[in-house]
Amino acid sequence: MAKNITALTIDLEQDGWDTSTGFIKREVSMPELDQSNPSDTISVIVKIQYAGMCGSDRGIWKRAAFSDMFKESLAEEGKSLRILGHEFMGEIVEAGSQVEELYGIKTGDLVSGDSHVTCGRCFQCRVGEQEVCQDQAILGISIDGIFAEYVKIPAKNLWAIDTSRVRPEMAALFDPFGNAVHALSKTDVRGARVAIFGCGQIGLFSILLARTFGAAKVIGIDVNQDNLDMAKELGAHETILVKPETKANDYDADPAVIERIMELTYGKGVDVSMEMAGFNSSVNNCIAATRFGGDVILFGIKDGDFVIPDFSRMVVKGLTLHNVIGRQIFQTWQTAQRVLSDKSNGVQDKMWDIIMKGGNDTVIKLSEFSPELIEDKMAAHPKLVFDMQN
Ligand SMILES: [Zn+2]
Ligand SMILES: [Zn+2]
Repeated sequence: MAKNITALTIDLEQDGWDTSTGFIKREVSMPELDQSNPSDTISVIVKIQYAGMCGSDRGIWKRAAFSDMFKESLAEEGKSLRILGHEFMGEIVEAGSQVEELYGIKTGDLVSGDSHVTCGRCFQCRVGEQEVCQDQAILGISIDGIFAEYVKIPAKNLWAIDTSRVRPEMAALFDPFGNAVHALSKTDVRGARVAIFGCGQIGLFSILLARTFGAAKVIGIDVNQDNLDMAKELGAHETILVKPETKANDYDADPAVIERIMELTYGKGVDVSMEMAGFNSSVNNCIAATRFGGDVILFGIKDGDFVIPDFSRMVVKGLTLHNVIGRQIFQTWQTAQRVLSDKSNGVQDKMWDIIMKGGNDTVIKLSEFSPELIEDKMAAHPKLVFDMQN
């Protein structure tokens, strides 16, 4: 019999989706490779060292997101327990027989990896657009994830890392950092004025990247002053606090925010707006804040319908909309690695010192996990990392 390991999970039968919150720590069986099974010959067992808690994990914590994907994928697999999590770094402790030859990685290597397990066969995969694969699974949502001491994972998803260049806690964040890299790769921000709506984890990464990629002015916008203080420390030139305003509708743009952006851009509007929050009003802020001919990058998501008042204004302004999902595999990873590895740009140190508070209170040992502790820490910090071996 396989030994048991500790994991953070939801079990639809034992916990229920609507009758529980948070992640439930429980014992699961140790994953194994069966070399007679073709898919295991191209998979590895990774001993997870650090795992990041994503914004999407916060949604799952509150049972506010991905309900259908959870239920449908588990029903298809004929089981009720899902291991959560998708941002990780760890060590390969066992490799399928074909892994080294096909992927150049082996037992003992340290790896991170993409959370989207793509099919490799569909049109999009074949033309190099795996981020919109038509038959993909997402770790920790539609297949078992990485909040466990050991996980089995397809080798093609892995990205070898060098912890002498990227500290292990930060190497666990390649996936969300890659979201920001992907978003920033949609348009040229050199010399541009860029407004970033939503300064949570990926919005804050985007501020660092906009500066690194040569934006002339970076404006951070959020409802939370602590996030804006971090945005400033990370290099935002200006910040705007969104205050409750009397508006005809919740989804309308915030007049005071738009007025301030116009002041900061001499009446012109920003060249690029980035929607990193997933609020309807935030989308309308982006459209209103962007100059004629500018670019709007949409990344935040929320279920349901959004309203865009005065739709023709967006067309008349000649705005270009970009929608960003996941990371380009592996172009985004290559760029992310270069930005993080090159200590002279300050990006990795700022992520660690400012967003992660140098690991103070933001790195949580699996042995210390409790729902109450995580609730407190989520309220205090935009980004948490689990130490999965302690
Ligand atoms: Zn994530
Ligand atoms: Zn595909």
